[in-house]
Amino acid sequence: MDTRDAISAPEYLQQQEELETAARESFPHDPRECTYAKGPLRQELYACQTCLKRTGVLNAVCYACSIRCHTSHELVELFTKRNRTCDCGTERIGTPCLVRNPQWSNLMLDKSFGGKFSPDIPDFGNKYGHNFRGRFCSCDEPYNPLEDSNMIQCILGVECDEDWYHEECLMGLKPGIIKRSPAHCDSDQGGNRLDDLDQLKPGDDAANTLQVNDNSISGDEILPLPGFPPLETFETIICWKCSSKFPEAMDDLVQLLHCDTLEYIPSESLDERIKTLKPGNNKKRTKRSYPTTIFLRENYKEILKENVRNHPEGTLARFLKKYPFMYEEDPIYSPPEDDDSSSVFELGIKELNTLPPEQTIQGLEAYQKIKSKLTEFLTPFAREGRIVTKDEVKNFFNNIKK
Ligand SMILES: [Zn+2]
Ligand SMILES: [Zn+2]
Ligand SMILES: [Zn+2]
Ligand SMILES: [Zn+2]
Ligand SMILES: [Zn+2]
Repeated sequence: MDTRDAISAPEYLQQQEELETAARESFPHDPRECTYAKGPLRQELYACQTCLKRTGVLNAVCYACSIRCHTSHELVELFTKRNRTCDCGTERIGTPCLVRNPQWSNLMLDKSFGGKFSPDIPDFGNKYGHNFRGRFCSCDEPYNPLEDSNMIQCILGVECDEDWYHEECLMGLKPGIIKRSPAHCDSDQGGNRLDDLDQLKPGDDAANTLQVNDNSISGDEILPLPGFPPLETFETIICWKCSSKFPEAMDDLVQLLHCDTLEYIPSESLDERIKTLKPGNNKKRTKRSYPTTIFLRENYKEILKENVRNHPEGTLARFLKKYPFMYEEDPIYSPPEDDDSSSVFELGIKELNTLPPEQTIQGLEAYQKIKSKLTEFLTPFAREGRIVTKDEVKNFFNNIKK
């Protein structure tokens, strides 16, 4: 038996007790700690659509709250955003945060909820873009990771609120307009794609870096998008909405970093886009007639940092100093590593979330019931001083599912 995956049941039960009391304050680095008190952080966030529907107010909740306080709610995963404070338990959500105030869970079950709860004050600095309504990209669609496209997050986010974009949409095309799954592509379409590549003039857009990656034609991968820089050539992007806000600084940045850029040209098809880009068709086109997305390579921070050091009064450095995360470390807040005992609890929570729909936890009450069943299951282990493994906890949940 792998002891790293095991805890003793008494340990586990003791921890359950701790969960049920206000003792969390004594575990400042506990991963189940709500980040509200830490104030604005770059952190993993979730937008609760159930609470939004109830209150009409956009919200952001931290990882711990997504699991503990909004268990049965419809959540949109926002990945990470900078400078956000958790809204759970504040006036924006209007119900108690069970992580910060665990005593409320029992009161809610007693149906006496609503009497004495006074919500915390929300962070008025929080921003709420359309992602918080479950909408992403310039196409304003729900996030769909199964779609025939990759999505890329803007690193600057000043204008777009760190939005996520479909590759097609960054070019100005409609999402899903180009079938890119090899299974969906007949040979005819493949032929057109190569023709399109030939028509792109080197130097326009990213045509000069374009290559068809043979590896991507097999498996679940999707075909490269003609005119779009290969994913492995850049680390992150500054979207066209954000880059347009700082034209001079962005010109300097592109020059300094030798970035690929991509023009946003609203068009109905790849053909239409290519025609627009042809030199003969756009004689009046000036350098900045289309907003451009900028592709940043892996080492961009080092070079930008050097620029700030060596040319502190330059246009670019003055811009960068307003957004130091562009050249300095910008860590994502994550609670320190869990110890083994609480990993079992986390595992249990994850297993709860995999229950089939008809058994999905309907609110806190059902959740509490399963938790007490789990405690029941663990009691013999506790009495006999036996060790419980992750597998045994998993089996317990599998039995519940049956
Ligand atoms: Zn929270
Ligand atoms: Zn909620
Ligand atoms: Zn909470
Ligand atoms: Zn889109
Ligand atoms: Zn942006």
